Amino acid sequence: MKLFSLNQDQSFITLISEKTLVLKHMRITDRIDLIDGTMAHSYVFYSSSGIVLFDTGTRGSGKKIVEYFMNRKTKPAYVILTHYHMDHIGGLPRIKSEFNPVVFINDADRKVVTGEATMPHPPNRLVSMMLGLTRVTPVGDVKSLGDMNLEEIKILQTPGHTPGSTSFIIESEKVVVVGDSLVNSRGKATVSKAFSLDIDLARKSIEKLKNMKGYKALPGHGDPLDL
Ligand SMILES: [Zn+2]
Repeated sequence: MKLFSLNQDQSFITLISEKTLVLKHMRITDRIDLIDGTMAHSYVFYSSSGIVLFDTGTRGSGKKIVEYFMNRKTKPAYVILTHYHMDHIGGLPRIKSEFNPVVFINDADRKVVTGEATMPHPPNRLVSMMLGLTRVTPVGDVKSLGDMNLEEIKILQTPGHTPGSTSFIIESEKVVVVGDSLVNSRGKATVSKAFSLDIDLARKSIEKLKNMKGYKALPGHGDPLDL
């Protein structure tokens, strides 16, 4: 559990957890930032087509993300969601009302975000119960990734965690934004067993990601991981 977090400058965050003292880079590359402390990580990419925000954290994270952009006197032109889980889409209503970005998600996950479909629950009963208790405010006007045309971002389908879980390759930065398609568990790429809808499919997707030698995975949970 995080007890204390201090912004030393724009590049570093000192993070003191119960057991460890970690100096954490907030800047992933010259053009990619990690917004720390949003439950599931949010990444900001300063792309040639405009500022892109990947994932929006939990409902409570919305304020933190808005502050990140306000402090820099800028705003995201696009929000790309890796999948529909509430720790990745919860901050979206706040961000949408503040900045009105164009929002994209894989079509297979889109209707959960817009409230047109309910979330299918993973086989794990406890997790399923937990997800059943969480409410996400539906957001309208969410576009399908098929309509996305941002020249620096390539789509890699990595289904399994959710039907529409997607990863995003940014060649110039040698990174892949993976959402929860891959979890960094003590330096190893694994699937999120409890939360994944189709674990076999999720494992196949991880193999796709592991083939991306020379790239760094930017996961929703845990530190970046060399593939
Ligand atoms: Zn997830």
